[in-house]
Amino acid sequence: MTDKQTIFSNLGLDAASLSGGNLAVHSPIDGSLLAEVSLTSAAQFNDTVDRAEAAFQQWRSVPAPKRGELIRVFGNVLREHKEDLGALVSMECGKIFQEGLGEVQEMIDICDLAVGLSRQLFGLTIASERPGHRMTESWHPIGPVGVISAFNFPVAVWSWNTALAVVCGNSVIWKPSEKTPLTAMACLSLMNKAAAQVGDIPEGLCQVVIGAADIGEQMVNDQRIPVISATGSTAMGRKVGPAVAARFGRSILELGGNNAIIVAPSADMDMAVRAILFGAVGTAGQRCTTTRRIIAHQDVYDSLVAALKQAYGAIRVGDPMQAETLVGPLIDQAAFDAMQRALTQAKQAGGKVSGGQRLLEDQYPDAFYAQPAIVEMPEVEQTVQTETFAPILYIYPYRELDQAIGLHNDVPQGLSSAIFTTDMREAELFTSAVGSDCGIANVNIGTSGAEIGGAFGGEKETGGGRESGSDAWKGYMRRATSTVNYSTELPLAQGIEFNI
Ligand code: NAD
Repeated sequence: MTDKQTIFSNLGLDAASLSGGNLAVHSPIDGSLLAEVSLTSAAQFNDTVDRAEAAFQQWRSVPAPKRGELIRVFGNVLREHKEDLGALVSMECGKIFQEGLGEVQEMIDICDLAVGLSRQLFGLTIASERPGHRMTESWHPIGPVGVISAFNFPVAVWSWNTALAVVCGNSVIWKPSEKTPLTAMACLSLMNKAAAQVGDIPEGLCQVVIGAADIGEQMVNDQRIPVISATGSTAMGRKVGPAVAARFGRSILELGGNNAIIVAPSADMDMAVRAILFGAVGTAGQRCTTTRRIIAHQDVYDSLVAALKQAYGAIRVGDPMQAETLVGPLIDQAAFDAMQRALTQAKQAGGKVSGGQRLLEDQYPDAFYAQPAIVEMPEVEQTVQTETFAPILYIYPYRELDQAIGLHNDVPQGLSSAIFTTDMREAELFTSAVGSDCGIANVNIGTSGAEIGGAFGGEKETGGGRESGSDAWKGYMRRATSTVNYSTELPLAQGIEFNI
């Protein structure tokens, strides 16, 4: 593996921006200091918005396919730097290198999608009730887009928003998590490299501000930023949503999940176990789409638990940069403490806990590795209601599918969901209007690892926002309905007579 300094330098991070700043960045791998970067001040933030507004004024007039050219080149720059950026993702947020690479691949995929989209930002022609009239709907750039992102997808979430926002004709200001500023600075450096290759890109089209909730709040309250896309906890969204609404801005909220898989008696158990394993322990249980609950039919409950315990026994927890590691560290001590609290509560609720203990403490006293936990729960009327951002898998028994779907939906969150079944009726029911109430409802694949082509997001306390594919691009544009009268009469709609 390439060393830290080489990775920084390959990604265009200059030494001056990495030392002497007032925000210390530590690696969750071993707690070591990666860099000290500078927090953005309130005045600097103000200037950032000025630049973003000026860039928007220019960029909105550039034809969309030409805007797509910047994203096409950016996608290629990402291809060149996939390994370096993937490694920096691992170093800064602790996910395993394979997942770091996967995250950069997701960036490349959204670039490809956005390039195609840049030639397809289409509207509608609508039948007018008036003769000699034509009615159309067009989509126009909206203005600077503010992106607030979480630590666990430190680069992909920005790219989902930025690739779309930029081809839609907007500038972007990004406030990454204060836990992962380096990956953000690296992404900006790669975007600047792409911009230099393309030429004539307005300065300030894509910018990064570094800071915690305070700078996020400044962004959220800035009237000049019409769209705020905020990804993070429900607690954060509860503050951001009303603040943006109070100034009549638009928010795209991507918040917490509490995702479940129903395992039916007819399920292919081998596939179910593999999908649950990746969904529950991947990224050390720190994905918004992590599988947190299993609702297993009573006939397969015991065999599923046994198979999962066996699979959990073979998981290698450790340094995420090592090829054989499947589970890296938690982001920090607070995450480990929250995991322990949740396990204590689960025991109090009658759960039988396996795993969950701290690992590798001697080797990494300043890092927090945990054995992923399985909690066998008794039959309940309501499953766990909160998202603990750690690898805890609660397994509940069920008797009838209606009961399972009821338990599944009876949580405040609504992001991702799945059923493992080979019964076509059960599969169709689960994805129907009376099945899963989540934004993502899968059959025979797990809850995490969505593709870029579909709209991504969830309902209820997950916030209702959609990013990525399908028609998510409409969230980054304003809609104009235009009626053109090419006749010599002036008929009023609804047949109203208003003659002088
Ligand atoms: P977090 O809510 O602590 O922080 C997320 C971001 O919000 C950070 O950049 C933070 O500085 C900022 N922030 C916090 N308070 C703010 C405020 N009042 N105003 C403006 N900005 C504010 O979340 P986290 O711990 O970084 O990430 C984990 C959470 O994110 C989990 O709940 C996870 O489910 C969620 N998540 C959701 C998605 C999704 O697409 N639905 C994706 C990734 C993560």
